[in-house]
Amino acid sequence: EPRFDPAAVRDDFPLLGVEVNGEPLVYLDSAATSQRPRAVLDAERSFLETVNSAVHRGAHTLAAEATELFEGARETVAGFVGAGPEQLVWTSGATAGLNLVAYSLGNAAAGRTVPGHEEAARRWAPGPGDEIVVTEAEHHANLVPWLELAARTGASVRAVPVRDDGTLDLEAAASLLSTRTRVLAFSHVSNVLGVVNPVEQLVALAREATGGRALTVLDACQSAPHLPLDLPALGVDVAVFSGHKVLGPNGVGALYGRAEVLEALPPFLLGGSMITTVTLEGAQYLPPPQRFEAGTQPVSQAVALAAAVDYQRAVTDRFGATAVLDHERALEHRLRHGLRGMPGIRLLGDAGEGAERVALQAFEVEGVHAHDVGQLLDARGVAVRVGHHCAQPLHRRFGTTASVRASAALYTTEADVDVFLDALAGVRSYFGVGR
Ligand code: PMP
Repeated sequence: EPRFDPAAVRDDFPLLGVEVNGEPLVYLDSAATSQRPRAVLDAERSFLETVNSAVHRGAHTLAAEATELFEGARETVAGFVGAGPEQLVWTSGATAGLNLVAYSLGNAAAGRTVPGHEEAARRWAPGPGDEIVVTEAEHHANLVPWLELAARTGASVRAVPVRDDGTLDLEAAASLLSTRTRVLAFSHVSNVLGVVNPVEQLVALAREATGGRALTVLDACQSAPHLPLDLPALGVDVAVFSGHKVLGPNGVGALYGRAEVLEALPPFLLGGSMITTVTLEGAQYLPPPQRFEAGTQPVSQAVALAAAVDYQRAVTDRFGATAVLDHERALEHRLRHGLRGMPGIRLLGDAGEGAERVALQAFEVEGVHAHDVGQLLDARGVAVRVGHHCAQPLHRRFGTTASVRASAALYTTEADVDVFLDALAGVRSYFGVGR
């Protein structure tokens, strides 16, 4: 069994070599945005320097080459989540993907359905008295669009509670789901708790309780960077993730959908590239995925995202998938136990050894505001996230408004975690905490 040593990949990431405030950077903010390997930077630059042009419809050579790379990237990124290219819609990111689904259902609720698929879309479209079920742990991107959809359709949003240990209360989930549920939207891994939610179990609960009427929506932003994903096997109807969290560029993301679901969903954004025929009276729309890709797409970013997927695959091919997972598991353990062992630290959700987790942990320092913690860590070159991490309801549930979050990626070393823990111990004594 070869062991994965992050030293073998760190040279691939130019940014990891910078100094911050005169200290070598310790980057523990990969859950917000990951760093990009040279292969990704080169892929985008090379595309822009040699092939850049508008995709589809171009009569010239470059347009054909750009289209080939763009559609090839779709195939690669779809393969990354176990899907086929026709199941992958380009978006500008997870937020755009979730809005696409919410607005599409809103359009269906307003009677705007796809010819031949009226029944399917109406099945998921909420109306007065219907319910959209989310969890208490959602990022605002997987909450606010549903609140808006509910407000526009007369439906209401209900949330599956999170337990003290950061896991979902599945019994409560089972009793919240009913024949009134039109949507179940939840994250695979919360960006604050790091706990891996039981996707298949939740999908099964939704199917049982609703007779298959609820659309299941998975926010895979924080699982895609860490876990091998087979979205068709997980059984969700749609899922989203962002390029910039999986070693790729920002400005690009993907929406995966089961074929029958994408075929039935009406479009959200309207305009060029998503139609077959347009008259002054109306328009016919292309089948998916193009139906959901109005306007100019993030082409160079999509090509670079495919390079990120290829890079990740090359690393796992070289070291073995389990070796990389073991490395990240060791980081998770070191991070959580280091924090746990420090007096005056309160973890947000601590499911212990029983729960599957990714290397991401939010915490509070007794008596010190998260922003002050972040600033002092920054002085030591340690980059962490502070604030509510776009999850205000979850912070409220844990009785606070802000936390500090440290998160790792495959290039994170155990030494990074140790420098962070040492700097954090310094923060506590600086503020006279725990004396
Ligand atoms: N969901 C989760 C769980 C996230 O962590 C994030 C990014 N913080 C998002 C959604 C939104 O992603 P983006 O900003 O790339 O659209």
